[in-house]
Amino acid sequence: MGMFDTILLEKVTHCTACGALIESLQTKQFGQHLEEYRIGDIVEPSPVITGIITEQIFCPKCRSSEQTVYLTIWQSLLTGIYDNVESAEKDLLGIDRSDLLSHLLRHQRSERMWSRRFEKLYNELTQYHEYEQDTTEGKAADHASLRYLHITEHLKQPDPLASILENHNADTEEFFEPQD
Ligand SMILES: [Zn+2]
Repeated sequence: MGMFDTILLEKVTHCTACGALIESLQTKQFGQHLEEYRIGDIVEPSPVITGIITEQIFCPKCRSSEQTVYLTIWQSLLTGIYDNVESAEKDLLGIDRSDLLSHLLRHQRSERMWSRRFEKLYNELTQYHEYEQDTTEGKAADHASLRYLHITEHLKQPDPLASILENHNADTEEFFEPQD
């Protein structure tokens, strides 16, 4: 089957054939579950517990797949992506506790951000549901009522539900992950 996983490249990478910007690569070596991985993620399942695996970058622009990258895996953790095997070997030998902590910190921040996003969306949708019920039951649905505190601004829009959903779009800046 044509299933694969995607690995996001964190370093700016250009196609060696045509110069196009490459942001990710696809691999069939990680279980082919359509997962998205970044450096610092545990790869499940990993073809090696600790070691280096090679992969080709496919350029969507010129369709070249000549470029080789070296992925370093330490205890199933993707620790780096390198364009030469010497750097990859050096990375593997130099993994230390502070590297692991920084990966842990990023995952903790990400988990908290998604948890906050979910809570906010849930609260807003709950209030919108109450607003709709109140309206259906013929109660005076005052936009400024404290019952709809979280969605006052959205209720002023022609389509409040669309406005709530748009505000929770994953691309909305408000929710960008804090940078180190
Ligand atoms: Zn190219």
